[in-house]
Formats: sequence, structure tokens, C-alpha cells
Amino acid sequence: MESFENLGLSEKTLKVLKQKGFEEPTPIQVKTIPAILAGEKDVVGQAQTGTGKTAAFGLPIIELLHEKAAAVQALVLTPTRELAIQVAEEINSLKGKRKLSIVPIYGGQSIELQLRSLKKGIDIVVGTPGRILDHLKRRTLKIDTISFFVLDEADEMLNMGFLEDVGEIMENTGPDKRTMLFSATMPREILQIAKKYMAEYDVMKVTKGQLTVSQTDQIYFEVSAADKFEALCRIIDIEEEFYGLVFCRTKIDVDTIANRMMERGYDADALHGDMSQGQREKILNKFKNRLLNILVATDVAARGIDVQNLTHVINYALPQDPESYVHRIGRTGRAGKEGIAITFITPQEYRKLQFIQRGAKTDIRKAKLPGVADVIKSKKQRIKADLKDIVKSCPRNEYLEMAGELLEINEPADILAALLQYSFQDELSEKSYAEIEDAVVDTKGKTRLFVKQGKQDGLTRKKLVDFIKDKCNIASGKIRDIQILDKFSFVTLPFHEAETLLSHFKKHKRGAGPLITKAKKARRK
Ligand code: AMP
Repeated sequence: MESFENLGLSEKTLKVLKQKGFEEPTPIQVKTIPAILAGEKDVVGQAQTGTGKTAAFGLPIIELLHEKAAAVQALVLTPTRELAIQVAEEINSLKGKRKLSIVPIYGGQSIELQLRSLKKGIDIVVGTPGRILDHLKRRTLKIDTISFFVLDEADEMLNMGFLEDVGEIMENTGPDKRTMLFSATMPREILQIAKKYMAEYDVMKVTKGQLTVSQTDQIYFEVSAADKFEALCRIIDIEEEFYGLVFCRTKIDVDTIANRMMERGYDADALHGDMSQGQREKILNKFKNRLLNILVATDVAARGIDVQNLTHVINYALPQDPESYVHRIGRTGRAGKEGIAITFITPQEYRKLQFIQRGAKTDIRKAKLPGVADVIKSKKQRIKADLKDIVKSCPRNEYLEMAGELLEINEPADILAALLQYSFQDELSEKSYAEIEDAVVDTKGKTRLFVKQGKQDGLTRKKLVDFIKDKCNIASGKIRDIQILDKFSFVTLPFHEAETLLSHFKKHKRGAGPLITKAKKARRK
């Protein structure tokens, strides 16, 4: 098993990783961290967002930077502002107590605010190309002495038409820097960028074996992060039988979720790498003997365990990559029994789900969370069935005499209702379930698309709408903010529809219609 300790990281960093709850490095981290720390060459890493690539370049950069430097030391370019914020936050969480300032700089945010932080001194700038170029032109940002240049999601930069800007930015950097380029795919244009602007480099790929998915029913639910726990409870409550693993990303998450479950009265426990061998075995034995029916675990902790016939595997957090998805869900549906694999995604994770789905060559269908009324109905049925079994299995017991006495002074229905109330309290009341917000992806997740045709090509609003409607089954009302310019155009679609359109488009050659790519941020000209 690979460990962070073997990668050449300092004690300080190992401590931060422990606090963050990372148990072991992801494959891309295993490859890039020692190469950046100890090597001299530039790095081209083939990795998708979600594979831990931010830490793959962030950790060694943090290790190698100087505290209290006089100028910007590293620049990370990302295609979108969402990613800029996310990457800056992740690197910030990895720096520990080091006095390093990491700031996202992106279009749409006030220039004055950015000027202020630039003046104060930033060590790592994480920015989108348009805004970084702006600052370079205003001379409010100098990058000629940076030690690290990272190009993140290079293929997205290409899709969004940012490659020229990226080249221009790179020309502003000096020769004494290490360059790292990350991309999920490696089209020719990206490799050309690497050849043109990078020194001698190593390509680091995470090799993938052939994946086979078991015959598990796979579904996903869209829930906001805040609603995940409630959603998990509903899923467990509606099932007649639940015997499953709940996967979280970190040890801290595992502890939090397991504790919340136990507080609610579930037979749940946690399993992670921080536990002693003895503790782990004890919990595992309880799970195997079904004294526990819910085990909340990290991938690492669950790896070696051999538990058969799980009814459910829940991806409370998306796995890092398709391999780990396949591995997790392979634990259900064994021995001829059908299992269910459930994955929670937040609206921002839709693309990552698609990446996992493609990589695992599998179909994960969308489902709707059970409503509270259905959950309660199912619980009531279970209670009735359980009571029937109990009546059958012990017709005479020590309570029979007491029952007779109670029946002399009360109506049977009143006594039963009181007993049910006594046992289940407000468990069967709708009020004990929290609300879950609906349809998060459709209301919040929109994608701005770039259309490589404009007025000069004879494109009109109507033609564009007709084209989109013709290619995908999209209602006109969902097509928003159309902007037809001379040479190109923009249109906004909900996430799902945008993905459908893009995937349709990828199958077609140029000339089959206007070329449509993602363009969350319009280029400044
Ligand atoms: P990224 O691919 O950089 O977007 O990372 C995806 C998520 O994985 C982030 O939430 C990271 O905090 C998390 N992550 C990165 N490396 C690890 C690791 N070795 N173990 C557990 N989680 C990780």
C-alpha cells in the first residue's frame, strides 16, 4: 500500500494530511509528488478533477515555496472561476500553519478587491486566463520570477478557446520555473503547448485496468451537501432490509456520519485507518454477524474486508475515479443476489459522475428520493409485519397476564396505540423528518456554451434555438440568454441539457452545424 510518508513530504505536511483525514495518496499523487519534490523536470499529468490532482501539485509546491517572499511565487491557471475558487481553497487547506497567502483571481470579482490583495503580497495566485491577462496588462501582477506555473484542466482551456491567452500568459513568465500541466485528455493542441512552452518533461498517467461492473442496480440522487444526511436516512428507512456500506471520502467524514447515525438510533459504526487492528476487527465482526447493519467507511478501510451479500453500497461522497467506483459497488449483488448501488451527487459534481460513468462503462440512472410519506408508510408496514412475527413466535409469555388486566380497564385499540407510541415515540411522525430541497441541478447548475458561428454565418436566435431543439429534447423555455455576435454566439442551458448537447456534438464532425463548446466565461477581446 502506498503511503504519504514514502513520498518525501515533510512532517508538517504529514500532520496537515492527517488532520484533513486523507489516509493514503491517490494514484496521481503517488506519481507526481515525488517527481516534483525531488526531480528537476516539468510534469504533464493526465488526470481528471476529483482524482486528487490539486493536492498532487499543491502539496509539493507548498513544500518548496518560501514564506515571506517578496513576489508571487506560483501561478495556477484554471479555466473557470468555480475551479479557481475550489483550487485556492484546497491549497489553502493544505498549507497548515505556513505563512503563505493563496488567492483566487477571476473575472466577475471586483478588480479593486483583487488589487488590494495583490498589493499585500500573494504567494500563490490561482486565476482564470482573462483576468490574469488583464492584471498583467495593467502591470498589477508580475509573474516573471515565479517558481511554479500550473496549467489546470488544459483540455477545458482548449474547449473554451483560452489557449491563445494561456500562451500569452506563459510568455510573461521567466525561464527559472517548473511547469506542470494537468489535463483529463491529451489532444494534439495540448501536447503542442507542452512542447512549445515547457522544458524537458515527464508524462504521468494513471494506468487503468479493464473495468467490469457487476450486475448491480445503479442509481444516483442529486442532493445538496447539506441534505445528504437526511437523504441517507430516508433511503435506509424505506428499505425492508438494509445491510450496507456507506463510503465517505475522509476519516473525519466517516466519524461524523457514523456518529450522527448512531445518535438517531441506527445500528451503525465507523471503520477507518486510524483505528487499531483490534477495534477494526471488533466492528467488522459485529457487521458480519449483523449486529450492525450500517458500516460507514473510507475506501482504504473497506479495501481488505470480505463481506458478502450487501444489499446496498452508498457513495455518500463520489469516489475518486472509475476504478474505485467499480471496486466499491462490486461488494453488492454477490452470490446471485441483486444489490443496489446509490451515489449522491451535488449539482457541481454532475460532470464528475459522467466521467465515472464513462470510465466504468456503466449506466447510472437518476432517481428521485423517497418522500417522507412513503418512508413512514414503509416503516408502518415493517412494524406490522414484525409484530405479526412476534405474535406467532411467542404466543404465551410473561406479559399475557398483564395484557389481560390492561384489557379489563381499556379498549384494545387504545392500549395498542399507547404501546406503539411508547415504543416508537415520534419516529412515525412527518415532523421528525427534515425537508430536502428539490431539483438542485436544474435551478442552480447552468452552463454557458460557446457557439462558433455568428451573424456573419447567417446564424439567428431562431436558427440556434431550432438547432438545439432538433438535436436534443429541450423545451424552448430552458434555452436562455442567447447572444448572437458577429463571429460567434453564446447560449445558456441547464447542466443536463448542455451535457446532452455537447455529447451529441462530440459525435459529429465539423460542418454538421455550429461548433458548440463550453464557455462558462466569455473571453475578453
Ligand atoms: P481534486 O481532484 O483535486 O478536485 O480533489 C477531489 C477531492 O478529493 C478533494 O475534496 C480533496 O480534498 C480530496 N482528496 C485529494 N486527495 C485525497 C486523498 N489522498 N485522500 C482523500 N481525499 C483526497
